[in-house]
Amino acid sequence: MKADPAAQRRLLDLAGLDAELARAEHRRRTLPEQTAVEEAEVAVRTRRDAVVRAQTSVTDLGRDVAKLDQEVAQVRAREERDRKLVDSGSVSSKQVSDLSHELDTLSRRRGVLEDEQLEVMERLEAAEGDLAHEHEALTGDETTLADALERRDGVLGDIDVLEQRRGGERTALAAELPADLLALYDQVRARTGTGAGELVGGRCGACRMEMDRSELARVVAAPADEVSRCDNCGAIVVRTAKAG
Ligand SMILES: [Zn+2]
Repeated sequence: MKADPAAQRRLLDLAGLDAELARAEHRRRTLPEQTAVEEAEVAVRTRRDAVVRAQTSVTDLGRDVAKLDQEVAQVRAREERDRKLVDSGSVSSKQVSDLSHELDTLSRRRGVLEDEQLEVMERLEAAEGDLAHEHEALTGDETTLADALERRDGVLGDIDVLEQRRGGERTALAAELPADLLALYDQVRARTGTGAGELVGGRCGACRMEMDRSELARVVAAPADEVSRCDNCGAIVVRTAKAG
């Protein structure tokens, strides 16, 4: 293949743009900022589960407290009724004796219920403390996530800008190159990642390998418009002032 030496040299600019675009793409796929977002998302999800568990404990214990309140109130009402009957003087001494027994039983029952009530209320207080703590921690985790998202989106935005700029430059440059030369470059690039390299100190700029002595002599001696390929990687070897 033949191509204007100036067009061949422009391939190096194209390769530079393609390398930059490839680095941007690689960076997009391996962002530490993305890893930070994923970690923060896991932390928020885990914390939300903890909040739900703490909320369930508070609700359950609150229900237990209400049930005990009701039971204590029922016992109190019964005690009051019995005491009124005893105080009324309208019941027989046998009934007074029975009522006194029942009042003793009710008093013991109320004691047990009130102890239980105290214990459940203490547990409720502790559960409410846990819930408040988890809520606060969730707010912190959500802030961390929001910050991580902002940082990641900022970096992605920078990469977008760079890709758009370099992509535009590439399109403009490619439009100026002979179609057959560009097609060869793109074909090699698709296979090996680099379509062209500068010949420097007997080395191919694409694969960095030293060229075979006779191959090198042939490339150097070839007419300026001859398109040469690296015998190692297949890239278009571009001769510049550094070739000698
Ligand atoms: Zn090479």
